Order: sequence, then structure tokens, then C-alpha cells
Amino acid sequence: MYVLGIESTAHTFGAGVVKDGKILSNERDTYKPKQGGIIPNEAAHHHYMLAPEIIRRSLKKANVSMDKIDIFAVSQGPGLMPCLRVGYQISRFLSDKFNKKIIGVNHCIAHIEIARRSTGLMDPVMLYVSGGNTQVITYENGRYIVFGETQDIGVGNMIDKIGRKMGIPFPAGPIIEDLSKKGKNYIKLPYSIKGMDVSFSGMETFVSRLLNTKKKEDLCFSIQETAFAMLIEASERAMAYCKKESLVITGGVAGNDRLNEMGRIMCKERGAKFVRMEKEFSGDNGAMIAYTGYLMRDYETMDVTPLPTYRTDAVEIKYR
Ligand code: AMP
Ligand code: MG
Repeated sequence: MYVLGIESTAHTFGAGVVKDGKILSNERDTYKPKQGGIIPNEAAHHHYMLAPEIIRRSLKKANVSMDKIDIFAVSQGPGLMPCLRVGYQISRFLSDKFNKKIIGVNHCIAHIEIARRSTGLMDPVMLYVSGGNTQVITYENGRYIVFGETQDIGVGNMIDKIGRKMGIPFPAGPIIEDLSKKGKNYIKLPYSIKGMDVSFSGMETFVSRLLNTKKKEDLCFSIQETAFAMLIEASERAMAYCKKESLVITGGVAGNDRLNEMGRIMCKERGAKFVRMEKEFSGDNGAMIAYTGYLMRDYETMDVTPLPTYRTDAVEIKYR
């Protein structure tokens, strides 16, 4: 069974092909604003312009033709409406044209499922960290439960916003990571953890005020140390409370070495398992949508209209 997955929720347009759960291709292109942050209509325009080529490349790499696809899977949300519409229109058109099933995939759950597959950890606590989303998730009784989350902006968004003020283009995460490795002095920043929830906008404001007086490298180092410690603290508490023996970190920010190192240390100290996921699949991509579409292959025909605020815990998980 072949599944074509389409991802277009925000900055990245991706297309991936999965055959019987095995990933055959994962092609993508990321919109990079000329200045400032993501402009939704510009990102959507990028996706419309590149979609045909990326889908073609993905099919070619998988060595399959469009008429052999059994299911079209589309990232249904959460995300930016103009961007979501691109994936929706393309996948609806294809499923109508070839008279095949269409499945709407929750983008956050796709990040979770590809991380479980990548790490081989079947029932971990999941720290999902990207630009728009930051959640600590566990699985209980047929749902992915959000145990803790950001009360304002995602950790990746905080990093991107500070990066922008430092003159670093989107996505700032990898460059901030490089700078942080040269930082030596820890600067105390707001550590905002409220119950199981975290908050990052205070840190963003605080760091913005220090940009002219402190060294970039020290600020980047301190941002990572503080923000990641908050996330690992919330994850550890979720593990203790839910009695889970392992942790996976997924989403674009999971590409960060220091965050993974902190996760590994925390797990080691409590005798739990930690496996780092493959970087290729941690940020937004089409293969994770195809793979989750494959897991959902027996779901009944569904309405796949875009859902910009689609919650992780809104989906009934029938395949676990
Ligand atoms: P996603 O939407 O899941 O693709 O995640 C994108 C977010 O991940 C953006 O905010 C990036 O700045 C962030 N990101 C990517 N690589 C890294 C990294 N190495 N360290 C920190 N953040 C990163
Ligand atoms: Mg994402």
C-alpha cells in the first residue's frame, strides 16, 4: 500500500511516499522570508509554486506513479490557514481525480509518530518542540494527552524572534545553536514554569533588552540553557507522574544537540531510556504525514477541511 503525504502547515512544503509503513521518499523546500517573520500569504505562494516539482520528485524517488497511490494523506492542522489550504486543495484534487481515499493527519501527531518510529521507543513521554508548538505529551487510553504546554509562544518561535533582532534570518535555531557553543558566561534569564506549563515571551522581552550590552554568544548560550532546562524539567515531571520509562524529543528544535544532551542526562539520572531521533525527520516534512496516514489507513472517510487550531488531544487514536 502506497501513501503520499503532503505537509504545508507553515514554512515548509513537503511530500513523502511510504509503502507499507516504509519511507521511500521525503522531499521538501522551506520558505525563507526576505526579512522579518513568516508572512502567511507569501509562504502559501511559495508552496503553490513549488508543490508540483516537490511532489514529482517525491514520486520519482519512490519509483511510483501517481495512479499507484492508494491513500493521499494531508496535514490538516494546526497551522496557518493560507498554507493549510495549499495542501488541502492539492490532496483533495488528487484524491478526487484518482478516486482514492484521503486522510487528514494532525500535524503534531505526525511529529510524534515519526519520532516513535525513528527511535523505536513505543510508549515514551514526548517533548514536541517546534516554532509554533511546544507540548509535553503522553499516551493514555486512545488519546495523546497534552500534559504541559507553552502558555504563549513556542520555544522555536522565541528563538526565531530573538534571532531576528540579532540580524539572524529565519530559521534562527541552528545559528543560535552555533553561537551558543562559543558562549562562556551564563546570564540569568526568566525561568518560567507554571505547574506543567512553560512560558517564553518573558524571556524574549528580557533578552531583547540585553542585546546592546551583552555578548551575542553568551546570550545564545543562556537562552538555550534556560529554555531547555524548563522543557526537560516539565518532561521529567510528566515521566514521573505518568510512570513512563522513556523520552523522545521531536519537532524542529529536536535538531539541537544541547537539548538532546539534556534529555539524555535527565533520563540517565532516573534510569530511563533516551534515544535521539533522526534529524531528517524532526522538522516539518511530508514523510511523517505519509507515515501517520499509513497508520490511520483504516479510518473511515473524513472531512479534511483545514483546522488551523487542531489540537493534539482532539484525535481518537485507533491504531495503538
Ligand atoms: P518545525 O516547524 O517543526 O519544522 O520547527 C521549526 C523550528 O525549529 C524553527 O523555529 C527553528 O528555528 C527551530 N530549529 C531548527 N533547528 C534548530 C536547532 N538546531 N536548534 C534550535 N532550534 C532549531
Ligand atoms: Mg511542525
